[in-house]
Amino acid sequence: MNKILLAFSTATLLWITSGLAEEHHARATHEVHWDYDKNGPDRWGEFGEMCGLGKAQSPINIISKQTSNLDNINTIFLNESLQSKASVVDNGHAIQVNVDNGGTVEVDGVEYKLVQFHFHGKSEEQIDGKQYDLVAHMVHKSAFGSLLVIAVLFEEGKSSNPVIQTMLNSVGKSTQLNPANLLPKNTGSYYHFMGSLTTPPCSENVKWYVMKEVQNASKEQIAALRKFYNHNYRPVQPLNGRVVESK
Ligand SMILES: [Zn+2]
Repeated sequence: MNKILLAFSTATLLWITSGLAEEHHARATHEVHWDYDKNGPDRWGEFGEMCGLGKAQSPINIISKQTSNLDNINTIFLNESLQSKASVVDNGHAIQVNVDNGGTVEVDGVEYKLVQFHFHGKSEEQIDGKQYDLVAHMVHKSAFGSLLVIAVLFEEGKSSNPVIQTMLNSVGKSTQLNPANLLPKNTGSYYHFMGSLTTPPCSENVKWYVMKEVQNASKEQIAALRKFYNHNYRPVQPLNGRVVESK
């Protein structure tokens, strides 16, 4: 009888302690957050499975001579011309602008709404191995929740960018801006490929469009942005047989 009781209480004790350990583990992993240093890109698989296992990850190095002509079905129709209410937030990894009414992009009959844009302190995408001074990622979402990102590359130049300026003046506040002013004059030339979010959970099936015409930001604007985050770019990921289209 005593033996049975002892076995029972040992089992109960084990069950309780393993439960506590599990809870502790869950709490501990929840508290550790991904970043670009100690818990950087090499360890992101711990924060989002796809970051480690995905085969169609972003960003990539686009080799311009190894692209194919854009399939007509992937042509984008831009309508980013609206003045929008915006709130500028520091999301802990980048300065991000959430927009109420930032316009739309249409691809193959599906409309994607601009929901936010943010900057990386150096471009994540590379063209023929070249990394640019900044990149803006304009994140669009369809009614079904699928994602499309337009990337605009920036290089230091004499002219400043009005959207970046408004954004810098309004961190932590609400403002009005025109997201279309991030786009180059020529929005008809771009690279397209299928990729992922460049931060955990690194979800795939994201339609990427990288504008070919590079935009300018002033030295001061680039420095001001990098004061917030200067090392928030994921290294380029293997293509794994993906084809990059070009228009
Ligand atoms: Zn991004």
